[in-house]
Amino acid sequence: MAHILVVEDEPEMQRGLRDNLEFEGYSVLVIGDGKKALEMIRSKKFDLILLDVMLPGISGFDICKTVRMEGMTSPIIMLTAKGEEVDKILGLEFGADDYITKPFSLRELIARIKAVLRRTPAEKPASKGKIIVGLLEADLESYTATKKGKPVALTSKDFDIIRYFWNHQQQVISRDDLLKHVWGYDESISSRTVDNFIVKLRKNIEKDPSSPKHIITIHGTGYKFIP
Ligand code: CA
Repeated sequence: MAHILVVEDEPEMQRGLRDNLEFEGYSVLVIGDGKKALEMIRSKKFDLILLDVMLPGISGFDICKTVRMEGMTSPIIMLTAKGEEVDKILGLEFGADDYITKPFSLRELIARIKAVLRRTPAEKPASKGKIIVGLLEADLESYTATKKGKPVALTSKDFDIIRYFWNHQQQVISRDDLLKHVWGYDESISSRTVDNFIVKLRKNIEKDPSSPKHIITIHGTGYKFIP
């Protein structure tokens, strides 16, 4: 079942979208405030986001631009008002996958949703075994890894971090999450240690560690992993 986030502030639209999408078998979460929507998108992965442009707090465009810059890859369909031609173009430039102009027929919207969901590649399995991230090929079972075909020395902690990232793709992961789940609250470990491990992993994963594409820094919070 696909999880859809609806970001829309008009109560009637909220109700109509929720009822119809649930009827189609989707799981639906509705949020009416831009800032809350941004927080939700950062903390949870959705299969699709329907994003209204005019919202209290932050506009739909700013949300779209921000989450794309942070590496969020879930598809976004913008809900634009009639006549917002410029906005349509901007929405696509900011990384939206599609737009639909209000007032729209629900039938058309559902057709667009199905089309966008079909285009989205299936998620890679979050599991054990061999994974490839950037330049690194890691075997999470045998704890061996190669970079561009040559063996690299990684510690078991490195593998634990990679596994945690792999199982929490596209989510914001705080340093505390890593400390808790990888180190198990060892009090001798500081968040500075986490950063050092990340620096090392980036050197093994990223083509250009100074401009990471896989382990993205989310300022003030932690990281986001994009395989
Ligand atoms: Ca609105």
